[in-house]
Amino acid sequence: MPARVVFTADALKEPFGQAMYERISALNLPIEVAKNNRITGLRGANERETYRIAKNTLAVVNAPPGAFRLQPIPPSADWQMNLAEGCPAHCQYCYLAGSLSGPPVVRAYANLPRMLAHTATYEGTYPPNKTWQNSSDANRPTTFEVSCYTDVLGIEHLTGSLAECIRYYGTREQAQLRFVSKYDQVDGLLDLPHNGQTRARFSLNADVIARRLEGGTASVEARLQALRKLALPRHLGSGGYPVGIVLAPLMPIPDWRDHYTELLDRIAATLAVPQSGVPIDVNVEFITHRFTPGSKDVLMQWYPNTSLEMDELTRAEKRNKFGGTKYVYLPAVMKEMKAFFYEEWQKRFPNAPILYWT
Ligand code: SF4
Repeated sequence: MPARVVFTADALKEPFGQAMYERISALNLPIEVAKNNRITGLRGANERETYRIAKNTLAVVNAPPGAFRLQPIPPSADWQMNLAEGCPAHCQYCYLAGSLSGPPVVRAYANLPRMLAHTATYEGTYPPNKTWQNSSDANRPTTFEVSCYTDVLGIEHLTGSLAECIRYYGTREQAQLRFVSKYDQVDGLLDLPHNGQTRARFSLNADVIARRLEGGTASVEARLQALRKLALPRHLGSGGYPVGIVLAPLMPIPDWRDHYTELLDRIAATLAVPQSGVPIDVNVEFITHRFTPGSKDVLMQWYPNTSLEMDELTRAEKRNKFGGTKYVYLPAVMKEMKAFFYEEWQKRFPNAPILYWT
């Protein structure tokens, strides 16, 4: 629950903004309306205080025109479609650090239905993504990822945005929605008419890592139970969604094989279906930990006492095509981890594709 909720005047003119207003009012949260469409009062005396204030604020705004120009997001999906930017959780490795400008406030978009309708113009278009989606296969549905800049379930009780997206893509035969979360409030999603067009993924990690580094999120056990609720078939009273496991960020901590073996065993037990005859549609993505000079800088301001290992000297430097640098694990470590995860995954889930390793 945010300590402060601010709507811009324009956001309140949108019917979906009105619906959010009613939803948030029903939760008895005090709501301010910013007359001039600017959200102020987010800065504290220092970065730590700014972080605290911003993370406790939900702003409901209209997405700017630029948000209608979708960006490719390989290897996760074809296009990213952001229903919000900013996240209420406190992961000490946060992927958003350094990629969003300004204080890390959650901005939820009131003009979401218009953004969704606009994504129809992207259906049938496929930016290059050689990793797991074949761009030349023009008949496959175009995929839209909504979790790039927020945790969609973490704010769903306030916004209803994810349900809106699931309902919309449930009507689109040539488009699929993908989301990923570290939260567990899925009861409101179980009965939605998703028509198999939404893949619900959960980000999971070894318990020791989640407990130490993923502040404010649901426990790994709660996420597993949410995964089960969404994945099991509808005739068993569950969601019947295609699901996905995002194992991230993988870290070669001491005894990592033991910790991840335990996690993989728990995932297998979670997805075991009592003789339903309907196989669960699941796949997996493997993402190792990485950081950039910029993200490390921001994270060290947000979490000055973090125990997260970000030592450039123990890492390999990788350059992207725009000249940016990121630090990944050394090739020998990567090779060892990849071999372990592929083997252990395929052993437990012979029919669940591995989408990519990065
Ligand atoms: S859930 Fe994702 S976006 Fe939110 S704090 Fe954690 S890493 Fe960052």
